[in-house]
Amino acid sequence: MRKAFHPDRDEKITVPQYIDDFGNDPVHSRERARCPVCDQRLNIVAASSVDSIGHFAHQKNSGFCPTKSKAAAPYADLPPKNPDPEAAKRIKAVFLANWETHFSMLNRLVKGLANNEFTDVIRTANQERIWEYAQLEEFHLPYVFATLMDFPPGRSYRRKEDGLPAREKWFRCWFDATVRRYDDLWINRETPLMFWRAWYEPPEGKKKPKAEDLIDSYGSELNPAFLNYENNLPPYVKTQITQWLARYFQVD
Ligand SMILES: [Zn+2]
Repeated sequence: MRKAFHPDRDEKITVPQYIDDFGNDPVHSRERARCPVCDQRLNIVAASSVDSIGHFAHQKNSGFCPTKSKAAAPYADLPPKNPDPEAAKRIKAVFLANWETHFSMLNRLVKGLANNEFTDVIRTANQERIWEYAQLEEFHLPYVFATLMDFPPGRSYRRKEDGLPAREKWFRCWFDATVRRYDDLWINRETPLMFWRAWYEPPEGKKKPKAEDLIDSYGSELNPAFLNYENNLPPYVKTQITQWLARYFQVD
């Protein structure tokens, strides 16, 4: 990652800023920068080429951090431990009634959300049995949706003016490092659960971004306020998604 927390202050710094403050002596121990997502100490990795400025990386044998996952979706293939089919029916019905609210919120999180990204998210939510978590509440949905897959620029909504992707960076989202599967969203924790959005420099061709392509990340607590926002989706979004849901989304 290209920005990490200063060793002592809650302030993001780059590798050059770190070297200005702490020097670049590989032999003597220095205070290390901290990962914004898991708070573990990070190494600096020297610039590998003239146009790169170096990056921060987790130390060998470091503990779990979702940013270390090579692919998106670090919580994939870990279904609910105690699935609740009745709760699933209830939350699916709520989602179906309010899908525009969830489309709009997911769009705020990952920018430039395309219709087929939204339908892929719902398909993936079905596969991962997201609806069956007994404690899942409506306001959790877009945050969970954002962690189900990558949001690369190439798949985003295209701007009318120039046909270019509305999403310029590659977005990937996680919960903080206390969450290793969705069941962990409801464990007791000392500090509030955080949700992280990270944006990466998009890699060439069909590759996925690496940890060193992580430009910056933004953490916040989950906030249910969006449930009361006004939404104003374009008519073609409403029509297409409504038709898709009628065809493919089953509440029972
Ligand atoms: Zn980390």
